[in-house]
Amino acid sequence: MAASIIDGKAFAAKVREKVAEHVSRLKADHGITPGLAVVLVGEDPASQVYVRNKGKQTVECGMQSFEHKLPVDTPEADLLALVARLNADPAVHGILVQLPLPAHMNADAVINAIDPAKDVDGFHISNVGLLGTGQKSMVPCTPLGCLMMLREQLGSLSGLNAVVIGRSNIVGKPMAQLLLGESCTVTIAHSRTKDLPEVVRRADIVVAAVGRPQMVPGDWIKPGATVIDVGINRIDVPETGKTRLVGDVDYDSCAQVAGAITPVPGGVGPMTIACLLANTVTACCRANGLAEPEGLTA
Ligand code: NAD
Repeated sequence: MAASIIDGKAFAAKVREKVAEHVSRLKADHGITPGLAVVLVGEDPASQVYVRNKGKQTVECGMQSFEHKLPVDTPEADLLALVARLNADPAVHGILVQLPLPAHMNADAVINAIDPAKDVDGFHISNVGLLGTGQKSMVPCTPLGCLMMLREQLGSLSGLNAVVIGRSNIVGKPMAQLLLGESCTVTIAHSRTKDLPEVVRRADIVVAAVGRPQMVPGDWIKPGATVIDVGINRIDVPETGKTRLVGDVDYDSCAQVAGAITPVPGGVGPMTIACLLANTVTACCRANGLAEPEGLTA
């Protein structure tokens, strides 16, 4: 039987609606407008698109958007000085420094200079530690979006076998922590994992975050499993001479076996920015000692 399709685009629209409702309540009841600052260094075309979309959606949800574009040869000290100003600015509740940074900058040093309470990407070492110890933290947006979709699809995740393919700091590791927090039995697979197909075949939940187009075929998937495809890969289509986006799983064969699956595009991707907006509202509420919006955090 064909899998049901998890519509990330529709789900992200619902998340943005919830964010916008909470923002208007914050304005009406407390006179507070959440603000998100996004910093872009250089002119990487993909990053420029992301930053533009983030700014647009921030404003559409009723929040303030502050964009800071710096030249590619900006000294690291200048970027750190900007981060310090944003940390001290009460109108800014969330700070995101777009990665990757130019090679002459130390990304860890920059990320760790952000006030952890404003670290809406959840990459600061304090937030990583808080998440790892099951404490309240800012949760990285992409894994948060995956978790929201899994909860919506499956309800309780307790006791399920989850296999996360990929061990990056931005997706794989925090995803595994979140699934552990949901009482899944979690395996993190990676490039050195032995017999990956057998590992994946045991999974009730598969999260693929590898960056290899269509790497996971349908015969690795346990019948009825839920498949979350984080990968975004552009491949050539020789027949048309054009390109198209595909995930890390082979959608057609996996959709024959899985119980539910996210498409690419239209699955995890739209949820990532929606979760950034959600994190900004959460950060704003925490900064002001107000109740956090329900259903928008881990
Ligand atoms: P990364 O390159 O940092 O990490 C990739 C991981 O995959 C590594 O841990 C590596 O061990 C593992 N890996 C590589 N080859 C493997 C193999 N043959 N078998 C098993 N594991 C293997 O990548 P990332 O930043 O985690 O991103 C992963 C993918 O997700 C990329 O396609 C990226 O574009 C996409 N992504 C999407 C979103 C989104 O919003 N949808 C956000 C972030 C990343």
